[in-house]
Amino acid sequence: IIDDFYLKSQIRSVPDWPKPGVLFRDVTTIFENPKAWRGVMDSFIHRYMELDFSHIGAMDARGFLIGSNLSYVLNKPLVLFRKKGKLPAKTLSVEYDLEYGTASLEVHADSLHKGDRVLLVDDLIATGGTLLAAVQLIEKLGAKTIEAAAIMDLPDLGGSRRLQNAGVPTFSLCAFE
Ligand code: IMP
Repeated sequence: IIDDFYLKSQIRSVPDWPKPGVLFRDVTTIFENPKAWRGVMDSFIHRYMELDFSHIGAMDARGFLIGSNLSYVLNKPLVLFRKKGKLPAKTLSVEYDLEYGTASLEVHADSLHKGDRVLLVDDLIATGGTLLAAVQLIEKLGAKTIEAAAIMDLPDLGGSRRLQNAGVPTFSLCAFE
């Protein structure tokens, strides 16, 4: 498992982006750093190689990078959860609240079936709204979310707690208070 102090030191923090007052945690510096990126992926692989799940659900867009690697190494199908209007075939959609306004998350209607067990992955858990939208889509398709994993958690924003209250365990490699 990657040392969380080292991991945090390699994540770039950008003040006032995308708007004043927000401290954005930027993982592009992890993707550009093979030692850190490999450490992140090795940590996820170590945790998930023994877990009983059938599908990886990856969140648009940085979650795709984690999900893609995991899918290849663990030999599991990769399901993409995308922002509105990107998926070409029949989709299921849920609206969720953003700080200002709403957004929609979509998945192909034939990607998951009753009994499937999904591991969700993204770069970061903030309010948990995006991951909870994916959990709803998975439920609508009769499947179950067995865990939501991220590189970083922002526990002060309450997302991991909301997910746990909804019955979804969470896992992250580091946290920023
Ligand atoms: P949530 O829905 O509020 O949990 O926000 C999580 C989503 O927004 C994830 O898809 C993240 O990629 C993105 N996000 C929100 N804040 C940050 C941040 O500080 N750094 C990187 N991604 C963020």
